[in-house]
Amino acid sequence: MPRIVIIGAGYAGIAAATALESIAQVIVIEPKPYFFHNVGAVRACVDASFINKCIVPLDKLFKKPAQNKVVQARVAAVHKDKVVLEKAPESTEGLSDILSTNDNEISITFDYLLIATGSTYNAPFKSDFNSAQEVTQNLEKVAARIKESQKILLIGGGPVAVETAGEIRHMYADKEISIVTSSAELVPGPFNPKVRAKLNPIIAAANINVKYNTKTTSIPATLDEQLSKQRVELSDGTSMDVDMALVCIGATPGSSRLHFELGDNASVKNERHLIKVTGTMQVEGFENIFAAGDSTTADEYKVSFLGDLQAKVAAKNIAKLIAKNNKPLEVYKAPGSQRAIFITFGPKLGAGLFPFGNFAAGSTLVPMIKGKDMFAGRFWATAGYPKMP
Ligand SMILES: Cc1cc2nc3c(=O)[nH]c(=O)nc-3n(C[C@H](O)[C@H](O)[C@H](O)COP(=O)(O)OP(=O)(O)OC[C@H]3O[C@@H](n4cnc5c(N)ncnc54)[C@H](O)[C@@H]3O)c2cc1C
Repeated sequence: MPRIVIIGAGYAGIAAATALESIAQVIVIEPKPYFFHNVGAVRACVDASFINKCIVPLDKLFKKPAQNKVVQARVAAVHKDKVVLEKAPESTEGLSDILSTNDNEISITFDYLLIATGSTYNAPFKSDFNSAQEVTQNLEKVAARIKESQKILLIGGGPVAVETAGEIRHMYADKEISIVTSSAELVPGPFNPKVRAKLNPIIAAANINVKYNTKTTSIPATLDEQLSKQRVELSDGTSMDVDMALVCIGATPGSSRLHFELGDNASVKNERHLIKVTGTMQVEGFENIFAAGDSTTADEYKVSFLGDLQAKVAAKNIAKLIAKNNKPLEVYKAPGSQRAIFITFGPKLGAGLFPFGNFAAGSTLVPMIKGKDMFAGRFWATAGYPKMP
């Protein structure tokens, strides 16, 4: 039976793993014993009762656990036919046929590889921690600090800042919430202006103080610095005294820490450390190595639902190559001509745009589709848990 190795159990990784587990041996390599549903982190960092909904165990990911495995480890390097682990997995139980140890190097060979190493983001919004306990403690710390703070600054004006502002306002009517953004509008980017037209009045009614075209002169470097009382200096020469300043900017591709040993074709990453993929989601120059999600050059606009679609195309193409039926490989195309987006403003408000048509949704549909559970239930189901805790 062919072996497919998937690096990373994020949105793209788990979509491909579940799509492929019946046709091959699938080995997912992920440092954490859980999938972190970071889309829900904007709520979990305000409402601590939501934290456990964002930490989805990986123990039931596969229907055939004797054949398919989740290996708790980090990949250090990718070769043409194997991946080398940074160190031994947390547990090697049931992995003796899978792990190869040579010259102090622990590796796993593959017939097909999918690289789904995603991106990292400032704590508390994404988890780069090994234990669920640590990520829980961080989110609890932020929620407690938000509760005791009166003046809260969110640095950045994209969906993360706006959604966090909405969650804070939903829980606390009286806090002074400010957003500082270097852009001329909130949620800048390739979205239909109808989304902003629906979102802006919601933000105005919620009494959020937005400073446009302004940068902070420095960015808190650690979570503790974010949670400290501080004077924030701004590029317009003014300053703000706040009780905390959450950094809502700065995704970095997970592939930036991944080393490639792919012979002469070593230039698999572009200058931004994104893995260069073709339309079939194959890494340029390789038939059996695929990549999907935030760590690739596919789609400038990095979101989980596009990573999921890219991974499903990669999975279909791996299945075609395994079947050796010479059918042409599928080419990935982002759905619709519009950039779909659903931005919540707490559980009861929001704005969005569907990928098809030209229909902007508001505070009736967005809470029904996303706001009620931030899509968490869907990912518990994908990971083999029909009911979320
Ligand atoms: C706060 C926040 C809110 C967001 N909200 C939305 C939203 O509402 N809708 C939306 O569509 N998108 C949203 N996004 C974007 C979305 O989270 C990303 O696009 C998504 O996480 C990308 O999925 P991925 O599978 O590519 O990577 P990730 O989810 O980043 O997963 C990558 C996985 O790979 C693992 N990994 C990395 N390196 C290695 C290695 N060397 N070895 C082994 N494993 C490794 C990581 O531990 C991680 O588990 C949001 C992002 C943030 C930060």
